[in-house]
Amino acid sequence: MTNIRFKALEQIMHDQCTTPKQEHQKVSEYFAQYVFTHEKMQNYLSQKAYNEFQQSISNNQPISIQLADQIASAMKGWAMEHGATHYTHWFQPLNGATAEKHDAFIDFAGGNHNLERFSGKLLVQQEPDASSFPSGGMRNTFEARGYTGWDPTSPAFLIDGTLCIPTVFISYKGDSLDFKTPLLKSQRSLSETAAKVCRLFDQNVSSVKVTLGWEQEYFLVDERLYMARPDLHLTGRTLMGHASAKDQQLEDHYFGSIPSRVMQFIQDFEQQSHLLGIPVKTRHNEVAPGQFECAPMFEDVNLAVDHNQLLMDLMKKIARKHKFRVLLHEKPFQGVNGSGKHNNWSLMTNTGVNLLSPGSMPGKNLMFLTFLVNAISAVYHNADLLRSSIVSAGNQHRLGANEAPPAIISVFIGQELTKIINQIADSPEKEELTDELSAKIQLNIANIPELLLDNTDRNRTSPFAFTGNRFEFRAVGSSANCASPMITLNTAMADQLDKFYQKLSGNMKEGASFDKTLIALLRDLITKSKNILFEGDGYSDDWIKEAEKRNLTNVRSVPLALKEFTKKHNADLFSKHKVFSDKELEARYEIWLDTFIKQMQIESRVLGDLAINHVVPTAIKYQNILIDNVKGLKEILDGKDYREMSQPHIDSIKKISGHVKNIREMVSNMVDARKKANDAQDIAESALLYDKEVQVWFDQIRYHIDKLELICDDNIWPLPKYRELLFMR
Ligand code: ADP
Ligand code: MG
Repeated sequence: MTNIRFKALEQIMHDQCTTPKQEHQKVSEYFAQYVFTHEKMQNYLSQKAYNEFQQSISNNQPISIQLADQIASAMKGWAMEHGATHYTHWFQPLNGATAEKHDAFIDFAGGNHNLERFSGKLLVQQEPDASSFPSGGMRNTFEARGYTGWDPTSPAFLIDGTLCIPTVFISYKGDSLDFKTPLLKSQRSLSETAAKVCRLFDQNVSSVKVTLGWEQEYFLVDERLYMARPDLHLTGRTLMGHASAKDQQLEDHYFGSIPSRVMQFIQDFEQQSHLLGIPVKTRHNEVAPGQFECAPMFEDVNLAVDHNQLLMDLMKKIARKHKFRVLLHEKPFQGVNGSGKHNNWSLMTNTGVNLLSPGSMPGKNLMFLTFLVNAISAVYHNADLLRSSIVSAGNQHRLGANEAPPAIISVFIGQELTKIINQIADSPEKEELTDELSAKIQLNIANIPELLLDNTDRNRTSPFAFTGNRFEFRAVGSSANCASPMITLNTAMADQLDKFYQKLSGNMKEGASFDKTLIALLRDLITKSKNILFEGDGYSDDWIKEAEKRNLTNVRSVPLALKEFTKKHNADLFSKHKVFSDKELEARYEIWLDTFIKQMQIESRVLGDLAINHVVPTAIKYQNILIDNVKGLKEILDGKDYREMSQPHIDSIKKISGHVKNIREMVSNMVDARKKANDAQDIAESALLYDKEVQVWFDQIRYHIDKLELICDDNIWPLPKYRELLFMR
């Protein structure tokens, strides 16, 4: 029997490339066709009901059951006109995926009474059993129920005949069991404090929203090759595979023309995204072969997160139609770039001002600088917590791996802003700040837009970079739910702004001038948080040393980074802003540890299986071929010739034995380490053991497997090779 690798290769070679018929319709004509947008809501609701709905949303007030009934009926009417038969509460449990449980509209009342129904009660709250989602012990007691509750700020949408209603997911006692609940809370907290600070500058600001524009990187692999790689299939990454002779050295893939089969996939998922109201806009080849990126127009953070989750789901489904598999893992292939998900984050007032944009009105730049400096300070004081919000079993391979930002959190702001910041930092303390100097500083601040116009320098090596009108959190992993870093960032910023506001208004009471008080306060913030600012090469070894001198932490271990969740000052931060109770935070800590342990366990098992049951037998098969050959040579050649000609074979035979022996021993050691980790007394200890004692074997075992791949006959090697996985499409 030919092995599955060759069957896959043969099938790919025989594929006919079909070009689907092009539909020439403008995106603007079908954008959000499957979304129950506000415009559609207006068509299906009375003006009074719609106004009431609008008011509830803008005032953050609950929606009455009567209004919910009207909205439910409107939603059902719209959905059924588009062929919907079912509805579902769509939520984001802590397993990282999205969840849905469909119910039919039809109410089988019997006889002539069968009728499609959907009430306000069903729209507003449901109780899916859902007891198997991670809860970190919050549902282990007698009360294991979980509830989903409608999020009216994210519109319902239609997929495959099902009306999907975005919801939060909470326990019977009201503890959050999802990503959305704390995200909404963090957003509210930040909106409130940011608006308060804004009003110091502009009385017209009544609210501030948080904006997020994510950039999603991913790999595409042919489905048949994927199926022939149990490691990709079960863990999302390759646990072995020698580097391809050519991979990304020539940088000929980056921004190159998109291969046509890939293009068909992209067009397909973009169209579906547009129908679902996801404003995807940018697409390009990424650095590694087989790697691509897509990015939408930024949106309100809650909607952006929903859209990213939806997009990842869509991509996976649509890839299958094109005989591709999409890899969202942070590091599917060793030796080439991994995938991240840059989170572009900013704040926008109801008056339309981007608070991180040095604006068209120079007078407003003092406000810009206030937000910029507070953001820097928030990151400085919460760097460890921010890191803990982005670490994962997958992302650990990417951070600090010479192609992605290190695990050190630093902030890049560019040369021009650095000059201005330094000028403020070097100014005298409040008491000695003269009117003249204050005026000079303000003049410079007013000039920021012109200064930045031709000087928007980029630094791709910084984990947290200012990019002209937003901060870009680059350390986020490609498979992550963006809510996690956004929750932490929002809360950190809310806290920072809150403290800043208290201080500023306190100082103002003493009758000091606003501008001078402000500059003096900014000066303090900059001096205290300056160590986090770094403009150089974040990938370099020098930076690691320099960061250490600056007391910036560099934690690459997932369980150690997660420990931040157990620290009192972090628990206090989250509870102060009502984002997480202590109990909720503890639960999350447990869930992330548990997820890490399980992922390590799966990787370790798959690696053991592949090594012992796939690779070793293949190596022995090839070794036997060599042994037969040596025996044959002995039969036909005389002593000297035989020795000369058989020696290279004998060397290979020995090498194979050496690698096989090492693999067997190491796998056995890894299994022992795994047993020890599984028997650990608690989950934190178990995670540490997986991190320190199990994981260390992965690369060592891999080393010997990859050597065998180079020695063995290509014809019998069972696993698709890197050159095939990366280039066949
Ligand atoms: P680059 O790769 O150069 O960073 P992209 O165009 O790929 O640029 O992505 C930039 C992302 O930043 C987009 O999603 C864009 O909408 C987003 N963005 C731009 N302005 C803001 C803002 N004010 N708030 C949040 N995101 C923003
Ligand atoms: Mg970017």
